[in-house]
Amino acid sequence: SELVVSFGEMLIDFVPTVAGVSLAEAPAFVKAPGGAPANVAIAVARLGGGAAFVGKLGDDEFGRMLAAILRDNGVDDGGVVFDAGARTALAFVTLRADGEREFMFYRNPSADMLLTHAELNVELIKRAAVFHYGSISLIAEPCRSAHLRAMEIAKEAGALLSYDPNLREALWPSREEARTKILSIWDHADIVKVSEVELEFLTGIDSVEDDVVMKLWRPTMKLLLVTLGDQGCKYYARDFRGAVPSYKVQQVDTTGAGDAFVGALLRRIVQDPSSLQDQKKLEEAIKFANACGAITATKKGAIPSLPTEVEVLKLMEMLEAWKYCDAVMLL
Ligand code: ATP
Repeated sequence: SELVVSFGEMLIDFVPTVAGVSLAEAPAFVKAPGGAPANVAIAVARLGGGAAFVGKLGDDEFGRMLAAILRDNGVDDGGVVFDAGARTALAFVTLRADGEREFMFYRNPSADMLLTHAELNVELIKRAAVFHYGSISLIAEPCRSAHLRAMEIAKEAGALLSYDPNLREALWPSREEARTKILSIWDHADIVKVSEVELEFLTGIDSVEDDVVMKLWRPTMKLLLVTLGDQGCKYYARDFRGAVPSYKVQQVDTTGAGDAFVGALLRRIVQDPSSLQDQKKLEEAIKFANACGAITATKKGAIPSLPTEVEVLKLMEMLEAWKYCDAVMLL
């Protein structure tokens, strides 16, 4: 199968209608559906791949809206359950004038945190070629146990496990607990992707040199990736390592770029799992993922910016041809 099953949270970000203000100064907010694991599922489906999402939503208008967004984008929502007593998670997010992102979460608890192992769609998880997850679902019970159980089911059924910790410090009781719990499942994943910020958080060292990244390497892994924003990414496999630069684009909003990157990479890996052992194929897959992340960074929001395969291939071709230009205006 080529199915990518993504597990975790789906929620609504409320984003100010004007840029560069604090949450308190924002005059109004617009809804921006998101949640990294949901974004990854939609990224895969946009690229023409099979994708499913597993998680819990509130049995409320927002929860039903999010489930409809999954279906409208071709994502199998057979793993979605609804909680009658808890609300769909909300987050107010702003990019302040000083460039810092400010988050305010409404999870007290929200429905996503209440998924139980008994509610898992086991048959769906067993069909996964890749089972992908983050770390937010590890924070609180009962979702934490459901997450661990789902990983076991997927692994036993032969899926590759893919992990993007997606650190949100504000959601954890302490930095120490975040680090410990994020690393507690480190040895289980076949594919791990971290950002520069997460690399520093987990190693305590502010550097992307190979010896620092290798502190996160495990012999159980097939691929470790460090994304570097407009610089592309570094990759580490068992027998080879390297770096793949991204494409130069006009950056507007990087929300979802990491998820687009992961979705695109997983799409390529399920199409040809030998990419994990073949450096040339892997670099091709990463180029495609970089392009997918780059395109997502040129548009506002996460889900609306996720490209189709034709869009990615067209842009790769165009940007290869124009690589001597300083910056290319997309759209
Ligand atoms: P997120 O902000 O979604 O958590 P992240 O920090 O994991 O994402 P980034 O490093 O911002 O991820 O972006 C992921 C990938 O997308 C990069 O490795 C790169 O390939 C591509 N990308 C992101 N921003 C740009 C940009 N401005 N120009 C070119 N490529 C980009």
